[in-house]
Amino acid sequence: MNQGQIVLLSSLLLAGTAQAATPKYVFYFIGDGMGAAQRQVAEYYLQQQKKDPALRLAMDTLPVTGITTTHSADSLITDSAAAGTALAAGVKTNNGVIGLLPDGTKVTTLLEQARDHGMKTGIITSTRLTHATPASFISKNPDRDDENAIAEEFVASGVDYMAGGGYRHFINKASGLKSKRRDDKDLVTALTKAGYTTFISEKSTQNFMHYQPKAGEKVFGAFSASHLPYSLDEASKQATPSLAQLVDKGISLLSLEGNKKGFFMMVEGGRIDHAGHAHDVAANIDDTLAMDNAVKTALTFYQKHPKETLIVVAADHETGGMGLGFGKNYYLKLDQLAKVKQSIEDKTQKIYTGDRAAFYTTIGQQFGLTDLSANEKKIIEQALDVADKKDLTPDENQWGEYDPAAIGVAHVISQRANIYWTTYAHTGVQVPLSAIGVEAQQFGGFKDNTEVAKTMAKIMKFNIGA
Ligand SMILES: [Zn+2]
Repeated sequence: MNQGQIVLLSSLLLAGTAQAATPKYVFYFIGDGMGAAQRQVAEYYLQQQKKDPALRLAMDTLPVTGITTTHSADSLITDSAAAGTALAAGVKTNNGVIGLLPDGTKVTTLLEQARDHGMKTGIITSTRLTHATPASFISKNPDRDDENAIAEEFVASGVDYMAGGGYRHFINKASGLKSKRRDDKDLVTALTKAGYTTFISEKSTQNFMHYQPKAGEKVFGAFSASHLPYSLDEASKQATPSLAQLVDKGISLLSLEGNKKGFFMMVEGGRIDHAGHAHDVAANIDDTLAMDNAVKTALTFYQKHPKETLIVVAADHETGGMGLGFGKNYYLKLDQLAKVKQSIEDKTQKIYTGDRAAFYTTIGQQFGLTDLSANEKKIIEQALDVADKKDLTPDENQWGEYDPAAIGVAHVISQRANIYWTTYAHTGVQVPLSAIGVEAQQFGGFKDNTEVAKTMAKIMKFNIGA
């Protein structure tokens, strides 16, 4: 290569560097427990319900696709704290640990860097705000279950928009609402003093829906004592906002005029994971679809600002070992799931009180189980026999610490759909990732979860990690 060629080459390289754009608006979606099977079964179900085999999930229409490994520092099977920390800060830590290296060193997250660079920030989730995934973006705590302390870190975080469930860690017992605080701290008043407009409990949902944000405002919304309801249970009541509605309000707040530096919004579809733990196919699909509706909301924004927006849809791990297919059969029967009217974890546990006739009537009405086969009846009867015992030995507790009666129903429904589960916990399989927008192509290919965060940091010119 001669001198001229070298000059030409280096100027081409410089031009290439100069063209690398930084997105002004970032949506970072995390489907908790949303593996390939969860995405696929939700898409098949949607196609069947809408009678359109060409229908795709919005997240499956994004042009860039990647695959992500999920192991933590101390296990090949991650939990959501270690995986959240990897996706937020690009580092491996131990299961249960939030925002710290295994040796206790604090790490800096993408969201903190966005805030410190003057971007508006948002944390949105369908779980408690203090739950592992959202907490990983703002908290430093060796114990993910220390949610009262994590709540205090949210108050001090300066994040412009926080919306989800879990007010029980922010209010005290004197409030008259359900509180899990062991002290008398009133964090809602602290939030108000810090300049937040607050929306607490289901009663504030309508006010929130009609609320028109003004420039410079900060908003905190916790619409339920614990997690937001499963989308499946919520559909008939609308007592709390949907994930898509939370994202929509976030966009109207964080993109107000005067916000020159854009926003960074983390959005977790958190109950996909819970449905996986409880072997609840219908709730799993419904919450995946609810998250996909939130992605659609972000895509509508993207279409107005295509040169300034980046959307990444990631997952922290797979939950349940959901298998599409069971036994020697070559089919799925997803039409069976359309009969399901309620979740296993939140609505079916504890409904069996010893009255078997009443239980069969309820599951007939709520799950379409009016025509149980001999084998299905056997599964339910076995579950009810176990439920009748007061103290289970570890050997007898094969029900993931759930109410055996509810899990018996979950297994009959799963088998009718020809879907099987390998665990009540997480699995170590790779998870899909999708992206669109500014520098989205950098998220393609096979990556570790830490590389997802590092890629985003590189694009945003952020310093994350330790
Ligand atoms: Zn989980």
